[in-house]
Amino acid sequence: MTIRPLVALIVSLLVNGQTSAGGQDHATGAAVQDLPIFDAHIHYKQPAWSAYSVESIIELMDKSGVAMGLVSSTPDEGTIRLWEHAPNRIVPELRPYHGAAGSSNWMKSSGMREYLEQRLDSYPHQGIGEFHIHQLNTDDEVFFREIISLANARDIYLHVHSGTEPIRWLYSLDPTVKMIWAHAGLSTSAEDVYELMSDYPELVADTSLRERDILDDSENLNPEWEKIINAFSNRLLVGSDTWVNSQWDNYENIIDSNRVWLSLLSRDTAEKIAYKNAERLFKREISMDLIGQK
Ligand SMILES: [Zn+2]
Repeated sequence: MTIRPLVALIVSLLVNGQTSAGGQDHATGAAVQDLPIFDAHIHYKQPAWSAYSVESIIELMDKSGVAMGLVSSTPDEGTIRLWEHAPNRIVPELRPYHGAAGSSNWMKSSGMREYLEQRLDSYPHQGIGEFHIHQLNTDDEVFFREIISLANARDIYLHVHSGTEPIRWLYSLDPTVKMIWAHAGLSTSAEDVYELMSDYPELVADTSLRERDILDDSENLNPEWEKIINAFSNRLLVGSDTWVNSQWDNYENIIDSNRVWLSLLSRDTAEKIAYKNAERLFKREISMDLIGQK
């Protein structure tokens, strides 16, 4: 039996009192519970469909104060099911994976460009992704130029799960491409995250699966991540990454653990990362009024 992190947080706030990262303002503290969350990394993959109905997904979001989420799924039908059920809560994005096309071979899959174009023409996806570039292969340049042009023509994002090198390469193909860097690289060091975000002033990152990097074992901000958060607070989003059903089983805890680090930030910074950056990026209004709505 684990104590939910938010409970632990509130206890620690009562015991210690806190100043925020940067120290100039009071930390958001327990008021973090009032902030609506935009979850920028949701998947509703086929194995989840039988275990979690669309109604139950929205209920989990409601219980966690997640007002809205960016959803991509394998196959895309999962995203569309959720979006059709609750269009005011879901921002759809188009994951390329379907049939035999998966994370390592999707760029080689025949008819992929046509598939993406047909789905983008049929539904209001706000991004292409999340997709993986496990290993940069510059032979894929022609294909990626096509993907970039599909995104640019619609003014939507690429949501890219990769290390730093593919992000630099995609920008080299087109400096105007709009990108969300999934998990801020996942295994990329804080130093390299800082450098990449400095080099590309439009790059947005979601911090899903990074909770244990951002917080140290005593639930204080890691100093290197505090530097990233302070420098790039306009370009960070939180996310859960429901890539397997166990992430849905644990959804409320995952969102709570994000509220723990957000609570250590000033209210202004916490609001931006929790939902205001997403409001700007996706031109949506996000508030707790959405909870209980579809
Ligand atoms: Zn993912």
